[in-house]
Amino acid sequence: MRTVLITGGSRGIGAEAVRLFANAGCRVVLNYNASKEAAKALAAEFAGRVLPVRADVACRTEVEAMFRRAEAVFGGVDVLICNAGVAQQKLFTDLTEGEWRRMLDVHLTGAFHCCQCALPHMIRQRWGRIVTVSSMWGQVGGSCEAAYSAAKAGLIGLTKALAKEEGPSGVTVNCVAPGVIDTDMMAGFSEADRSALADETPVGALGTPRQVAEALLFLAGERAGYITGQVLGVNGGLVI
Ligand code: NAP
Repeated sequence: MRTVLITGGSRGIGAEAVRLFANAGCRVVLNYNASKEAAKALAAEFAGRVLPVRADVACRTEVEAMFRRAEAVFGGVDVLICNAGVAQQKLFTDLTEGEWRRMLDVHLTGAFHCCQCALPHMIRQRWGRIVTVSSMWGQVGGSCEAAYSAAKAGLIGLTKALAKEEGPSGVTVNCVAPGVIDTDMMAGFSEADRSALADETPVGALGTPRQVAEALLFLAGERAGYITGQVLGVNGGLVI
């Protein structure tokens, strides 16, 4: 039975991934930061197979403590899903240095911390899967989302470099780049904006967390063993 650690597993895409992996028979470490109640309620649905652990992925000591706890309860992490993220829409010229840094810290440095903590076990056992969650904005850039786009583009670079470095050790590293997915991250959008976005999307709808989680599950599985260093868009055709 594989052990999977999913960052940002308390809500949205991450929460759906927790359900999917747990239902597929995995032990799941559900990382959360602020949403303790949601994390506990979700874990309770899977008696003993889902372990909620709080850590701000931007903080090295908290991430290290999370991996120690995961290892103590479930053993080493076989599959890492770097999903935790925050969004911010703001003119580039209004961004503060603190906002810029926080965006890079959560998305990019967060993945750096988690990958460094996860890899020694994966390399030792000569099997591992890492899947990062970027965004279509990391592929093509989003107006008023410069920090987010830069962090998500960085995540794609990290994914591709790690895929080359860890391939010989039996570890694959891939990236899922969602389009517009209906989660709390969309809460700031009006109904009119949401419907305009759906109209713009070739398949005519916003994506669901489940549709992204299915791609994560596939890339983390045995059947994806010859796929590494790839970016899989789950975006309804919005970015091709
Ligand atoms: P969401 O519903 O807002 O959930 C975000 C998750 O990230 C929550 O579980 C949150 O946990 C966690 N998180 C945030 N900061 C964290 C931190 N510092 N440490 C640990 N966990 C943290 O967002 P979502 O839509 O599911 O997004 C998931 C991922 O998909 C993100 O990386 C996002 O950038 C990416 N994405 C989303 C979309 C979209 O349209 N929704 C599109 C492209 C890419 P707490 O609540 O516990 O703090």
